[in-house]
Amino acid sequence: MLTVTDWRELSACRDSDPDIFFPVGTTGPAVDQIRKAVAICSACSVKEECLQYALETNQEAGVWGGYPEDDRRRLRKRWLAERRRRRQAS
Ligand code: SF4
Repeated sequence: MLTVTDWRELSACRDSDPDIFFPVGTTGPAVDQIRKAVAICSACSVKEECLQYALETNQEAGVWGGYPEDDRRRLRKRWLAERRRRRQAS
């Protein structure tokens, strides 16, 4: 299992402009920045680790694991519900 430090060292965005991963807003120029960030994520070998980290630590801003803020917020609601269901079942 990779530690946080390990997967970050393997990230495809390591040398990318951080502004495209943390655009201001979700309209106008941010649309293109988000699209570029998601494209970089799609080729990232640690996408799953990144997304898991973002869900576990409730990262609200930016693109993580290929998911922009709004998409990740919806995904996190489902992720939390599934986690609750698994804990109740065990
Ligand atoms: S999935 Fe995207 S945000 Fe996460 S480490 Fe990879 S390139 Fe960076």
